[in-house]
Amino acid sequence: MGYVSGLAYVAQDRLPHNWCSGCGNGIVLGAISRAFETLNLKPNEIVVTTGIGCWGKADDYFATSALHGTHGRALSFATGVKAVNPELTVVTLMGDGDGATIGGNHLVHAARRNMDLTAIVVNNYNYGMTGGQYSATTPQGKRTSTSHLGNPERELDVCSVVAASGANYVARSTAYHVTALEKLIVQAIEKKGFSFVEIISPCPTQYGRRNAMKIPVESMKYLKDNAVPINKYQQLEDLDSSLIATGVLVDKSAPDFTSQYENIRSKVLGKKEKR
Ligand code: SF4
Repeated sequence: MGYVSGLAYVAQDRLPHNWCSGCGNGIVLGAISRAFETLNLKPNEIVVTTGIGCWGKADDYFATSALHGTHGRALSFATGVKAVNPELTVVTLMGDGDGATIGGNHLVHAARRNMDLTAIVVNNYNYGMTGGQYSATTPQGKRTSTSHLGNPERELDVCSVVAASGANYVARSTAYHVTALEKLIVQAIEKKGFSFVEIISPCPTQYGRRNAMKIPVESMKYLKDNAVPINKYQQLEDLDSSLIATGVLVDKSAPDFTSQYENIRSKVLGKKEKR
């Protein structure tokens, strides 16, 4: 495979984007665009759905079809799109606030239904766009605009929730490990059934500055120093809570919603024809 730029999938007339300097969102946008090109998908056969938040603006920058919805509901719109037209490649882009906190219920049920779509959550550890409030994934003890003394709540392991809900594919990477991330996104889109990729990318503007990562490069260094491939992570005896287990966490092939629905439909139609 030659050089892949992904540029054909980026709405270049809408650049520059409105994300802060040093934010990982642009890195993820590039990785997804290159994954589309690697898979040789036609832009008009891709539908990107989003909700609200910094990463929820990403649909503006893709030269694909897009559906920008309400907060926490990006997966419900995606479910509708896929149910009506299973031929489309549907990719849902959410932050941790949108996807795992306000929209957590939709995430659980999209995975349980095993909808054939790909959800990509950029976990920036807070509600970046609305002022840096803590979300369900803010690590316990960390400072945010609504937890000046430290977050009293335990953080949610989103990948574990999605895996337990029945997703066919679950993976985690970071905004620093961009080559590995691209490969995981390709695998996720190729996978039949619900696929999920979590990308750890601490928000430098709201979260990093409050948590000893004064400049964006320190957020990247945090990712570089703390990411551990899942096979090594599973062998560790002393699990430090700052470590990030990366790689493919789940890969199976349970029947997806559309296949199950078609089975039921064809049985009913078969009975009618016999009458
Ligand atoms: Fe990125 Fe945070 Fe700025 Fe939002 S507020 S664009 S997540 S750095």
